[in-house]
Amino acid sequence: MDDTQILCGEHLCNTYARLPVVFKRGEGCRLWDEAGREYLDFVAGIAVCNLGHCDPGVTEVVCRQAATLVHVSNLYYTRPQVDLAAELTRLSFADKVFLSNSGAEANEAAIKLARKYSKDRHGEGRFHIITMKESFHGRTLATLSATGQPKVHKGFEPLVEGFSFVEFNSLPAVEAAVTERTCAVMVEPIQGEGGINLPAPGYLAGLKELCLRRNLLLIFDEVQVGMGRTGSLFAHQAEGVAPDVMTLAKALGNGLPIGAMLATNKAASAFVPGTHATTFGGNPLVTAAALHVLKRIADPAFLEEVQDKGQYFRGRLEELKTRHSAAVRGVRGRGLMVGLELTAPGAKVVEACLARGFVINCTHDTVLRFVPPLVVEKPHIDALVRALDEVLTEVTP
Ligand code: PLP
Repeated sequence: MDDTQILCGEHLCNTYARLPVVFKRGEGCRLWDEAGREYLDFVAGIAVCNLGHCDPGVTEVVCRQAATLVHVSNLYYTRPQVDLAAELTRLSFADKVFLSNSGAEANEAAIKLARKYSKDRHGEGRFHIITMKESFHGRTLATLSATGQPKVHKGFEPLVEGFSFVEFNSLPAVEAAVTERTCAVMVEPIQGEGGINLPAPGYLAGLKELCLRRNLLLIFDEVQVGMGRTGSLFAHQAEGVAPDVMTLAKALGNGLPIGAMLATNKAASAFVPGTHATTFGGNPLVTAAALHVLKRIADPAFLEEVQDKGQYFRGRLEELKTRHSAAVRGVRGRGLMVGLELTAPGAKVVEACLARGFVINCTHDTVLRFVPPLVVEKPHIDALVRALDEVLTEVTP
């Protein structure tokens, strides 16, 4: 173990099972460790560095803004925050934005908004939110309570009241779960942490119809799938279904901590001064960076390339599946959110790839998750597939 790993064990809370590598530098799709060894990155800080590591454009904006104004709080107006919100609303269904520091906080805002909106319109007691099994919405107390995974709840009971979980992709299950106390349905348009689970055709449209009919808010958690990851700026846009509320974070700042809750005027009307706040949220530094990121990712040519590279990636993995039919159960994904489901736990594959200089991730025990920087190139994909080919031969009996 090197010095950094020892110090980490001594001084940081033991909340992460980290892989044995200390990264020092990044550029585009590449990372370098302390010894100068190079890696190709297919994790991108968990779907965060969509424009690649240390993108020169982002760096320039951050340096300029850091030398101009970093923070004054939301007691005052700042231009980068307003410009970002204007661009987010111009590019989406939404009219209003609340800026936070993370995905969990964006979801907290959405949960609070749904409760407040319902209380304002319908009175007491209507605060339940239906979410999906295997969903992931964050680690704060309310968002872990909203998360449909018992392992995330364990040890933190009693949970925040008012969440019920139904099978992802089952409209009848949602319909059956709605009661007079329900105020909203919250769903990831593609489940990320739950194993890259795609919505069945018509599922999101069905949720929209149900929410309209039962007078519920529809909340899309696009923290992981938003910002070009799936080949459209926001994943739901490919389905032609708009929610009432959407949350973003991760890639919005390309690594700078920023989240956002977007809402229609109708839903957002429930937030008035004093109902919600954050000290750092939307400060000039992160919003200047996010505006730059948003403009670059919203470019149709950029998004088209994401679709093209995603299709290529999945095609290459399908070939791998034919060669390793005992080890690989399936390939799925959209754009550059790609999953390879194995027949056994994927931890060893992740380690063996790292040893070969490829950074990949496994979610939900058996699903290799590939969420590279969106600037990944086809030769990088080919190199990874070659490494996976060797690794699957080596680690599967
Ligand atoms: N929602 C989804 C869909 C996520 O994937 C995540 C994180 O992985 C979160 C919310 C929580 O975001 P954060 O870790 O920024 O709080």
